[in-house]
Amino acid sequence: MGQYASKPMHGRGGLSKLQPMRCPELTPMNPQAAVVGTGLAGASCARWLADAGWQLQVFDKARGPGGRLATRRLAWTAPDGQARTTRLDHGAPDFGAVDPAFQGALTRAEAQGWCLTWNPDHPGGAAGARAGTARRWLGRSGMPDWCRGLLEGLPARWSCAIDALGRDGRGWWLEAAGQRVAEGLDALVLALPPAQAAPLLAPWRPDWARVAAAVPMQPCWTVMGVSTELAQEAPAGAPVRPDTGPLARVLRQDARPGRERRPGEAHWVLQATSAWSRQHLEDSPEAVLRALQTALAEWLGQPVFWRSAVAHRWRYAVPAQAPAGPSHWWDAGLGLGVCGDFLGGAALPPGVEPVERAWTSARDLALAVQTSAVEVLA
Ligand SMILES: Cc1cc2nc3c(=O)[nH]c(=O)nc-3n(C[C@H](O)[C@H](O)[C@H](O)COP(=O)(O)OP(=O)(O)OC[C@H]3O[C@@H](n4cnc5c(N)ncnc54)[C@H](O)[C@@H]3O)c2cc1C
Repeated sequence: MGQYASKPMHGRGGLSKLQPMRCPELTPMNPQAAVVGTGLAGASCARWLADAGWQLQVFDKARGPGGRLATRRLAWTAPDGQARTTRLDHGAPDFGAVDPAFQGALTRAEAQGWCLTWNPDHPGGAAGARAGTARRWLGRSGMPDWCRGLLEGLPARWSCAIDALGRDGRGWWLEAAGQRVAEGLDALVLALPPAQAAPLLAPWRPDWARVAAAVPMQPCWTVMGVSTELAQEAPAGAPVRPDTGPLARVLRQDARPGRERRPGEAHWVLQATSAWSRQHLEDSPEAVLRALQTALAEWLGQPVFWRSAVAHRWRYAVPAQAPAGPSHWWDAGLGLGVCGDFLGGAALPPGVEPVERAWTSARDLALAVQTSAVEVLA
């Protein structure tokens, strides 16, 4: 890592207070860093480093932040000819929080208006949401809201798939489609799913690249759609988990907090089991759509009259098992770090879900990066 011209405001002890790390002593010579990937891991890490005084840029190959905390717009035409757009949470639909640190981060995100909480067992009210153990969290109006909030004010490049990285005398550089998009970076963070991180890491940390390439990830075929309201009673907003068949989770999006409701309509997200998704991984989206629509009607025991629906394949949806090993990777000599949900389940309490792992991994990496910066100055 290069020498830093600005003194971080935190002593080593102070660094444990990562939320938030504030560094008012910004100077033009502040250390430069880039975060590639703006899912929850990348967005959180970027926010912590920016608050600690790093000059931060973020890059994502998608058109906006959130990664697998995803909400998609389904464009369709109503019977009266009106063009409609319905937003559907087709990645992680919601998530739990086990560790008090993560719960605290979510409470702050809720206060900022980025997240909301509910308890599917007590869908009616906030008091119930706070009481039960089944409490879940989701983005306020769409799943990426938290990541978008964290990245507010940071320079971001969207639709920018980083396909090469390297180092010269000035630090790290990044390229996308043959164009240099960043250079002179003191630190570089990759917050990518493991299969996408592996080829970028291979020239620099072949040991990490090998581990990342071997992480088993489960696929998930997802259907998003709008139907007419069901003739008989419909499932509530909590994801329902059918016991048999290809469906792992059935979500009535319009029965969930912060989501659009329209009389006479039902908004659906269907997630296939990982076993079924693996078996049908290379099927066409049309074939998958038909199969999962049929499975829904069979499971409900009534026909579903679809207005519009599409299938989406998540090739890498969730890590197959809670990973062992460290919560993050950081090479202080290279100034290269990696975080994400595929790292570091070992030290976390049981029941921690992938979203929480992604956040914890990012927090631990940000702490390691900042500790290195302090050590360089010491
Ligand atoms: C269908 C589904 C259901 C899920 N259900 C749950 C659940 O119930 N509970 C739970 O906790 N978790 C769930 N998850 C998993 C959860 O969404 C992830 O664990 C979490 O969002 C991962 O965050 P991340 O930041 O590590 O990675 P990601 O969110 O994947 O972020 C990585 C980012 O990197 C970007 N990127 C990739 N390659 C490049 C490149 N070369 N250049 C630039 N950018 C790049 C991507 O566009 C993406 O924005 C689910 C996921 C899916 C898909």
